[in-house]
Amino acid sequence: MSPTSPMPPQTSFLSYVTPSPTSPWGTYLSQVDRVVPYLGELGRWAETLKRPKRALIVDVPMEMDDGSVRHFEGYRVQHNLSRGPGKGGVRYHPDVTLEEVMALSAWMTVKCAAVNLPYGGAKGGIRVDPKLLSLKELEKMTRRYTSEIGIIIGPQRDIPAPDVNTNGQIMAWMMDTYSMNTGATATGVVTGKPIHLGGSLGRVKATGRGVFVTGREAARRLGMSLDGARVAVQGFGNVGSSAAELFAQAGAKIVAVQDHTGTIVNTGGLDLSELMPLLRREGGIGTFAGCEKAADEDFWDVDCDILIPAALEGVITAARAHRIKAKLVLEGANGPTVPEADDILHDRGVLIVPDVICNAGGVTVSYFEWVQDFSSFFWTEDEINVRLDKIMVDALRKIWDTADRHKTTLRTATFAVACERILIAREERGLYP
Ligand code: GLU
Repeated sequence: MSPTSPMPPQTSFLSYVTPSPTSPWGTYLSQVDRVVPYLGELGRWAETLKRPKRALIVDVPMEMDDGSVRHFEGYRVQHNLSRGPGKGGVRYHPDVTLEEVMALSAWMTVKCAAVNLPYGGAKGGIRVDPKLLSLKELEKMTRRYTSEIGIIIGPQRDIPAPDVNTNGQIMAWMMDTYSMNTGATATGVVTGKPIHLGGSLGRVKATGRGVFVTGREAARRLGMSLDGARVAVQGFGNVGSSAAELFAQAGAKIVAVQDHTGTIVNTGGLDLSELMPLLRREGGIGTFAGCEKAADEDFWDVDCDILIPAALEGVITAARAHRIKAKLVLEGANGPTVPEADDILHDRGVLIVPDVICNAGGVTVSYFEWVQDFSSFFWTEDEINVRLDKIMVDALRKIWDTADRHKTTLRTATFAVACERILIAREERGLYP
C-alpha cells in the first residue's frame, strides 16, 4: 500500500467485548492511559498493552453424573509474551467472561514485570459454578479444558496456576492431563501443585504473605503500628484468610470479615484460632458464633485502619469509596477498585497498595516453584519466605521512589515501572517481520 492511500478500517477480536468505565477491561484500559505520560519515547509502543496477543475460546462439553451432556465455555488469554512465557491463574466462576479474562491476563503482565519475573501475562477461566459439580465432574471438566488449551500452554509457553475456586488438586489434574497428552511428565506446566508433584513449600499462603509484606511496609511509611491496628477483610478464601492470620500474628485485630456466606464483625477482634477451623470445616464464615452478624453492604462502613479487598473485581465502587474508613487499602484481589473510586480514595488521603504489586506474592512463589521444578532441587520454606519478602520489599521500594519522583499514585507508579520493562523488551525484540 502506498504511504498516501488510506488504511482500511482495523477489525479485531477486541470488538467482541464491550468494556464500560467500571468493567475489568475498561478499568485496565484507563490504568494504561494514566501511565502513558510517564513512559517517554516508549509510549509509542503503548498500544501493545491495549491488545492481548492471543485469546482462545474453547467449548468444554461434559457428560454429567446424571447422564446428561452440558457445555461450558472456557478461555485462555495470553496478553503479552515480550518478557517470557505467559503466566497466570485459572478461575472457575459463574461470572467469568472473555472480557474479565482479558483484564486479568493484562494485570498478570503488569504484575510479573512489577516484581521483575521473567514472564509475560496470561489468564484462563471457565464460566461455571464449581460448587454445583461433583468431584468426578470437576475432574472431567478440568481435564477436558486442559486438553483444549493444551495447544497454547506448556512449561516454556504459558504456565497456569490456581486462582478463584481452583486449587492444588485441580493443578495436579491439569499437570497429569498435559503430561498424558505430550507423553512425558511435565511438572513445570502448572504451578501451585501439591508438594508431592513438584509443588513448592509456601506457595499456598504466598499471595496472603505478599499482601502482609506490602501492608507492613506501607504501614511503616504511614507511621501506623500494626500492633492493635484494626483490619477488615473482604473475601476469606486463600488470600484473605492467609493475610488475616499474618496480620493477627503481628498484633493487629481482625475486626470484620465478609465472604459469600455472610459478614461478621467484632470490634475487639475476631478469634482466628476458632474462626480458621470453622472456615476449613464449613467452607465459609457465616455461622461463626464469636461476633455480630452484619448486613453485607454495611461491611463498607466498618471502622478500621486497614481494608483488604481479597475477592473479586469492581467491589470498591465510587459510592463505597466515600464510605470507607480505612487509611490503607491492600488489594489482595485483582482489580477490586474502579477508576473513579481510585480517585475518590486518593483525594480523601487513603493510600492504596495496588493489586499489581500487593498480590504479586503468589506468582512470585509460582516462579520459585517453576525454577525448582526445572532444577529438580527444592528449597526450604524458610528460604522461600525470605526470598519472597526481599523481592516484595525491593519492588515496593522502587515503586515508591517512582511515585515520589513523578508525584503519582502507587498504582500509576507500579504501571510505570512495569510498563517500562515490558516495552523495553518489546522494543529490543523488534517487530517481526
Ligand atoms: N492467580 C494468582 C494471581 O492472580 C497467581 C498466578 C500465578 O501464580 O501464576 O496472581
